[in-house]
Amino acid sequence: MRTERRHTRRDFLGIAASGWACAVCGGANAQTLRYDLKAVEIAPQSYAVFGAQEYFTFQNGGNIVNTAFFAVPDGVVVVDTGPSRRYGEAFQELIASTLPGRKVVRIFNTHHHPDHFFGNQVFDRGLIAAPQTIIDNIEADSVAFADNLYRLLGDWMRGTEPVAPSLAVDTDQEDVGGRSLSYLRLAGHTSADFALRDDATGVLYAGDLAFLDRAPTTPHADLDVWRASLRTLLATDRGVLLPGHGPADEKNDAIVQTLDYLDWLDETLRDAVQKGLTMTEAMVTPIPDRFATLGVVRSEFERSVVHLFERFEDELYESVPVAE
Ligand SMILES: [Zn+2]
Repeated sequence: MRTERRHTRRDFLGIAASGWACAVCGGANAQTLRYDLKAVEIAPQSYAVFGAQEYFTFQNGGNIVNTAFFAVPDGVVVVDTGPSRRYGEAFQELIASTLPGRKVVRIFNTHHHPDHFFGNQVFDRGLIAAPQTIIDNIEADSVAFADNLYRLLGDWMRGTEPVAPSLAVDTDQEDVGGRSLSYLRLAGHTSADFALRDDATGVLYAGDLAFLDRAPTTPHADLDVWRASLRTLLATDRGVLLPGHGPADEKNDAIVQTLDYLDWLDETLRDAVQKGLTMTEAMVTPIPDRFATLGVVRSEFERSVVHLFERFEDELYESVPVAE
């Protein structure tokens, strides 16, 4: 019964959202919704598909995320699958046209946020892998995520159903399709974050542990754990780093910028709680110049206040003076 009600609601929301789009943009309808995905080579036969540096909107169809794929001797390895079934289909076509004649031999999910795995259903579930905690997180949260994205993206989400990986990554290195991959099972952006390095090209697929030129998101973040993971990435021998959001990085910019932003967020929220500010007062804190050009920084900062403020209050409560 619960499933039936959910589908009815999603169908309604899908129709409502696409109708709204028709009114606004003059003629957009379900048939015209199509992701324009492009493969950008970031290392030999290794490709990133860059999303917008934005939050989910009907206009971007939820294409706000970086996905990736790379050739290995016996096929293609895929990293993350995008925000919807429709994205997954477009992504699959792009992979086939970029690396023709190669079959996908493995798909990885870097964490359980919905922009990273809702394209899973177009791939063979038996080939989709992630550490067990990510699989557990997907199984726990994916229905709520789907409801939220149907509400935000409407008809872009038509037919999307969450599919969890079936293979648990429980090792630090593996040969996949004739290629050695190194695995980093970390956490902090969420309770489980997975990064992998293609040992032949050195490309490090960092997922949302690293952001570049876009404000990091924190709905499931632990700032201390996240910063420890970033220091691990900093010490990892590698070539190009592909962040979950933002351009590919040949230096340490994505890691350093993400660390710097999380340090500032920690200090700012701690300071706001110590001063006795309300959440609303904390939300209007000026953004330092060095972060002013990050995509969606003001709205992500406001969301971070909502996500994290109470935790700082809990942590600092005893040190806040209470009037007698
Ligand atoms: Zn994320």
